[in-house]
Amino acid sequence: MPDVFADLVGQEEAVDTLRRAAAAAAAVLRAGAVPPPTDAVGDEPDALAEEAGGAHPEARAADPGAGMTHAWIFTGPPGSGRSVAARAFAAALQCAYGTGCGGCPGCHTTMTGTHADVRMVVPEGLSIGVNEMRALVLRAASTPSGGRWQVVIIEDADRLTEAAGNALLKAVEEPPPRTVFLLCAPSTHPDDISVTIRSRCRVVPLRQPAPDAVAEMLARRDGVVPDVARWAAAAAQGHVGRARRLARDPEARKRREAVLAVPRRLTGVGAAFDAASALIEAAEAEAEASVAEAAATERAALETALGAGGTGRGAAGAIRGAAGQLKDLEKRQKSRATRAQRDALDRALVDLAGFYRDALTMALRAPVSPVHTDTAELAAAGAQKWDAEGALRRLEAVLECRAAIEANVKPRIALEAMMLSLWKG
Ligand SMILES: [Zn+2]
Repeated sequence: MPDVFADLVGQEEAVDTLRRAAAAAAAVLRAGAVPPPTDAVGDEPDALAEEAGGAHPEARAADPGAGMTHAWIFTGPPGSGRSVAARAFAAALQCAYGTGCGGCPGCHTTMTGTHADVRMVVPEGLSIGVNEMRALVLRAASTPSGGRWQVVIIEDADRLTEAAGNALLKAVEEPPPRTVFLLCAPSTHPDDISVTIRSRCRVVPLRQPAPDAVAEMLARRDGVVPDVARWAAAAAQGHVGRARRLARDPEARKRREAVLAVPRRLTGVGAAFDAASALIEAAEAEAEASVAEAAATERAALETALGAGGTGRGAAGAIRGAAGQLKDLEKRQKSRATRAQRDALDRALVDLAGFYRDALTMALRAPVSPVHTDTAELAAAGAQKWDAEGALRRLEAVLECRAAIEANVKPRIALEAMMLSLWKG
């Protein structure tokens, strides 16, 4: 039985830290003591560990925990495995042996998402609101039913609203004795996580895994043939989940091919606008497919719960309340669809950036392998036509488009501007 850390590809240092912390946590439980307060985590060892990529031996020696602490932040680029790491650590905390053996009920239920004392917050919309956070903090303060730890995992903690962040900060500042918060964020930059929350947390930096490590895992774990595994790992640019989808889902491969056909199609202004429309529509279709089924199920469940069609005393009041709840649900679903669409667009832009990066490295004759082996010829043709400068300008146009959408520019406007730059160069 592989242990719970087996899927953390190329993250040996982080896994080492988490194993030691889990062992310390188990020791805390055995001793019947409460773990040291979060304050004991000085900022200094963390900062040192971060600067030295977590490998500084003295920083380690000074680190108060090989031990356990109440609040952790997992940082790293998308796809590096932040939430995978957080879940694996949660499993190790709930593990009957304190190691994350992978086989005991504590490990098993945590990994399958059914452990009563592990809560995972996955933001559905563009941000995590204060009400959601308050409810969560309240529940997290209860005594763990399994007798070990209450674990709260917050994916995309960078999407906390300010008010939600403040609600969380209170809990992290005065943690209940058996509660552990695991936050996931792209980085510890103040744009991603507030300085005050960060100062209460220990940071576990994850790195972008090397394509070889990702390919090896796809072959070992998912039984992907080695050639396909290598191609998918390179094309996904270090994003483990994306590599797995490319290796296994023909629809994902088709969408990627459509995106990589864009550079060839940019023959004029009209074509540039058409390409922008096509990308938007593809992202909408992808997002719709991913949320539609869940949305219908939720609506049906809510209608049943509200007893749609009921009569008698109180029915009128119930209906008024029901309308409000349905409206709430629709609002949440709309927000989730917007997020899914943005994510789909972002994946397309990352693929496109990979193409122009290939053209750039070829123009510079840099000794690196291309991201997209299947469009390498096209990128080489681009490199000849544009030179390094032209390729760089196009790569920048793609990255600017990503940044603009992240900053809430309407996607269509950002994409049209990008396509025009890609065409004109
Ligand atoms: Zn276990």
